[in-house]
Amino acid sequence: MSQTLKAVRGTRDLLPPETALWNRIEATARSVFARYNFGEIRTPVFEDTSLFARGVGEETDIVSKEMYTWEDRARAQSEKTQTLTLRPENTAGVVRAYIEHGLGESGQLQKLYYIGPQFRRERPQKGRYRQFSQIGAEVIGPPSAGSESPLRDAEVLEMLATLLDELGITGWTLHLNSVGSAADRARYNDTLRAALAPVVGQMCVDCQRRAETNPLRVLDCKVPADQPIIDTLPVIADSLDEASKAHFAAVTAALDAASVPYTRNHRLVRGLDYYTRTTFEFTHGGLGAQNALLGGGRYDGLSEMIGGPKAPGIGFAMGEDRLVLTLLAQETALAQKADAFIAPLGEEMNAAALNLARELRHQGLWVELGEGSFRLKKSFEAADKTARQIVILGEDELKSGILTVKNFSTGIQTKVPRAELAVFLSN
Ligand code: ATP
Ligand code: MG
Repeated sequence: MSQTLKAVRGTRDLLPPETALWNRIEATARSVFARYNFGEIRTPVFEDTSLFARGVGEETDIVSKEMYTWEDRARAQSEKTQTLTLRPENTAGVVRAYIEHGLGESGQLQKLYYIGPQFRRERPQKGRYRQFSQIGAEVIGPPSAGSESPLRDAEVLEMLATLLDELGITGWTLHLNSVGSAADRARYNDTLRAALAPVVGQMCVDCQRRAETNPLRVLDCKVPADQPIIDTLPVIADSLDEASKAHFAAVTAALDAASVPYTRNHRLVRGLDYYTRTTFEFTHGGLGAQNALLGGGRYDGLSEMIGGPKAPGIGFAMGEDRLVLTLLAQETALAQKADAFIAPLGEEMNAAALNLARELRHQGLWVELGEGSFRLKKSFEAADKTARQIVILGEDELKSGILTVKNFSTGIQTKVPRAELAVFLSN
């Protein structure tokens, strides 16, 4: 016997009714993005590997161990064998497209959003998958378009607060920090390296390696025993130059003016190499270990890193899977049922029932159609599982035009004229 095939580890099928929640999240995101004047971009799911190596950074966990990469063999003399990668994130692809299509040449800010799958070979666990979906947005453009302005950072953060509120996600925390310019970070790395030298021997092996290669990453360490040591390390705020300090102060002043609450988190340096100045994360207590709903920041040098013009920008990526988990834990998101179940009495009523269902559906109702060969008891059981109300359609009802409706939550049975049925059922 052949072995049963299953979805690959770290991937999942999304089924109804949960997919209704995914659709609601995406519809809400599209609606908020449109009001903030963002347009949608759809980039390919795979790209040249070097885009991520250069854009995300060779040193990052994503590039060094999590990417799905393969040799794509040439199929014709005119083709070259290429090394391709399933996208682990979407910012690099968006910036590549910005450069490729010369979007900066308009002189306008580009405000782009995307929704789609990303791929990382991580250890699967709750809220962490190998294929997952991100909803993200980028604001990018030439400096003359105001792309470096702290107002853009504040606008993006205020939009995120609005989106989470409209999704009905309550109790989030915005963690905010600045990692400064490339020069600030180089200076801070030196300061950290010096501060780590006497203590790093007591830290985990990963930290010992990071202290050599990229001391900033030590701040990401989650090993409990290392935490008291990390708490004593110098903070990046003290290594920022005047321009970076002023930029950050302007971001926080605009957030205060817009009443968006945040906490300064000196350890928030984020896992991707391209960030400059503002970095942020929104967390939620209901998620357990994988508590980040979304992360993002400013990436003023990214376009140049992948061969483009100077194009500062800021963006974020939300983990859609984690939005779903949060909403599932917090509300009866999936408790929705159809407005009505039409139960034909006998097979000869099937065609009339199909016609009644069509009438109600055209009037905007959510309707399930039963089956006339079912006994009435079986129709009631099926209806109770899928709908709020059942409508009985027998020969008498068809002739008189008066239908019997039972509401399952009140238990009340009512006679309703056919002309008033849609209004009655929608209440
Ligand atoms: P984490 O610290 O949780 O690994 P990250 O810093 O790797 O997150 P980003 O690369 O900034 O995350 O991605 C933005 C968001 O995408 C995260 O905040 C999270 O909500 C989501 N995300 C990242 N990796 C995964 C994954 N493997 N499965 C599900 N969601 C993910
Ligand atoms: Mg990660």
